[in-house]
Amino acid sequence: MQQKIQMVDLHGQYMKIKAEIDAAIAEVIDSSAFINGPAVGRFASALAQYTGARHVIPCGNGTDALQIALMALGLKPGDEVIVPAFTYVASAEVIALLGLRPVMVDVDCDTFNTDIRFIEKAITPRTRAIIPVHLFGQSCDMAPILDFAAAHGLYVVEDNAQSLGAVYTYPDGRSRHTGTLGHIGCTSFFPSKNLGCYGDGGALFTDDDALAERIRMTANHGQRVKYHHDVIGCNSRLDTMQAAVLEVKLRHLDEYSRARRTAAHRYNALLRGVDGIELPVEASFTTHVYHQYTVKVKDGRRDALKEYLASREIPSMIYYPLPLHRQKAYACGGAGLKIAESLADSVLSLPMHTELTVEVQERIAGEVAGFFKR
Ligand SMILES: *Cc1c(COP(=O)(O)O)cnc(C)c1O
Repeated sequence: MQQKIQMVDLHGQYMKIKAEIDAAIAEVIDSSAFINGPAVGRFASALAQYTGARHVIPCGNGTDALQIALMALGLKPGDEVIVPAFTYVASAEVIALLGLRPVMVDVDCDTFNTDIRFIEKAITPRTRAIIPVHLFGQSCDMAPILDFAAAHGLYVVEDNAQSLGAVYTYPDGRSRHTGTLGHIGCTSFFPSKNLGCYGDGGALFTDDDALAERIRMTANHGQRVKYHHDVIGCNSRLDTMQAAVLEVKLRHLDEYSRARRTAAHRYNALLRGVDGIELPVEASFTTHVYHQYTVKVKDGRRDALKEYLASREIPSMIYYPLPLHRQKAYACGGAGLKIAESLADSVLSLPMHTELTVEVQERIAGEVAGFFKR
């Protein structure tokens, strides 16, 4: 029987590390330290070591991480925050929730990423922060964004939910992990993310001691000392059980990133000759950890290709079918965000995970090629 193809294979990944995971979870249950147990601190330290961040503060999920970041920066209602129009809604949602104003900008047409050219045009006297989103597994070109932010006194909060493990290289040759480049980095441990837990989870990164303190307080009801609330905060924690899972999986993250890269390069080789699509572009200044393998389908044939693949039992996903400025809740006209709009109409993500086999990829690529040969 032919194996059912999935977008993401979490079960296959679990089976390979089952013994380690089961032991880690059993240990948490045995200790019954479900909230802020020792695994939470251990995982935060291990992730700090892995990424080179001075502080890693775990929290409940990636959306919370973004919200806590903006709260910790002390932004005021009416302040403007620049965010790309082509991203997951969370990046803009938290801005609006806090009474700040999301200012949506267009993105680079090859990498899909936040681009300094569009940020420059969006700045006003009320701009306070920029949220670059490292989409699909590679870093935005951060040096020009960081220089611009420094010149204008803006905060940079990286949305690194999709690119944990990617490394950015500055023009002078220094390298750093995405999420550790701006004032605060945010990530998500949603199960399908590159480092995913078995439920919800997230974290913030910063090198700034004072900011780290404010982030910790904000995520913990605004208190430093129990029952003494100095600022308005929220309640956002990483469960001990999730931290235990993440502690195990972090040890495999580099191996997972390699598996994703290998699969992406294999897709490239298999799909290179196919006329109707454009393959993903890897920027020269970053490693790519392929959270998604996303092609652009030419000539308005994206939806037809998606349907054709579905009829052949090959799943594919559209990340994202509507740019943020076209969403009902965020509609702001956003005239001129042409690239975001054209990407929403042409992108298609193929199955991408750590367990892809040559046979499965050949089958997928064969069907993609088959569609354009009809
Ligand atoms: C997944 C994701 C988030 C939100 O993470 P959750 O843990 O689901 O809250 C934010 N931004 C981007 C770009 C994401 O992909």
